[in-house]
Amino acid sequence: MTATIISGKEVATAIRAELKAEVAELKEKHGIQPGLATVLVGEDPASVSYVTAKGRGCEEIGLASFQHTLPADISQEDLLKLVDKLNNDPKVDGILVQLPLPKHIDDNKILYAINPDKDVDGFHPVNVGRLVIGESIFPPCTPAGIQELIVRAGTPTKGAELVVVGRSNIVGKPIAVMMLQKAPNANSTVTVCHTGSRDMTLHTLRADILVVAAGVPKAVTADMVKPGATVIDVGVNRIGTTASGKAKLAGDVDFEAVKEKASAITPVPGGVGPMTITMLMKNTVMAAKAAGGLIKI
Ligand code: NAP
Repeated sequence: MTATIISGKEVATAIRAELKAEVAELKEKHGIQPGLATVLVGEDPASVSYVTAKGRGCEEIGLASFQHTLPADISQEDLLKLVDKLNNDPKVDGILVQLPLPKHIDDNKILYAINPDKDVDGFHPVNVGRLVIGESIFPPCTPAGIQELIVRAGTPTKGAELVVVGRSNIVGKPIAVMMLQKAPNANSTVTVCHTGSRDMTLHTLRADILVVAAGVPKAVTADMVKPGATVIDVGVNRIGTTASGKAKLAGDVDFEAVKEKASAITPVPGGVGPMTITMLMKNTVMAAKAAGGLIKI
């Protein structure tokens, strides 16, 4: 069996088209213009490119975008003042502070200062709590993208054995919490593996859905995968340089071998990656709807 390749690019394009239509309707019917503020501190090239892509994403679907670029030596106090200003700006529905921040700034102090109702990244403890009790409207963006890929690939989630490899706060834990909710597109039996797991293969071999977020190339090989499983590879590992000088990327799954065993699999690049910014846009639209009284948080 050769697996269906789940294209994150195609799914992201479809969701962006849906969001574009929704934003147009919000403007026309309700006079709501959703807006996202991004805050970039310093000139780290990866962060600059992420923030630029977020700005482009906003433009594509009709969101207002407010980009704040600050010098690397800005004080924590001044950054907190900007967050406070954005918290109180009615044109701003979502606030995204690009991480990592310079060493003299405490990331958590800044993230926890964001109004939870504008925390479209979903990292504020209030939103982490909402996620756990199944009341989140801002699921963290990468796990939200993973869930969309599973569902749009047509994989049934209710009652499925779902195994997550990795327990980070940004991927492993939130996707595990999301998929065990008694809710549509979830309701799975969830197991989480990590470096303390005694026999990871024992668990992965039972997985109808296997989500791998370890940050280690080939952490999952074909002998660890159940025939017919849906495999979501979250990993992004630089494994060299292409002939044109670009970084050569690989996921955490031995793609070539596992695709012969799985029924569906995401590639790297082009799988989970394209989904993350799209889910940020979706969360911003949700924030605008909540601010406009159309939905309840
Ligand atoms: P992380 O914070 O480094 O966490 C990795 C987790 O995997 C840890 O819980 C670790 O266990 C576990 N782990 C590592 N090696 C393992 C192994 N051999 N067997 C079992 N468990 C293992 O990483 P992360 O932030 O979750 O990111 C994971 C990967 O996803 C990275 O490659 C990252 O670049 C990628 N990523 C992609 C996107 C995207 O948009 N495409 C977004 C976020 C992350 P311990 O807890 O025991 O140490």
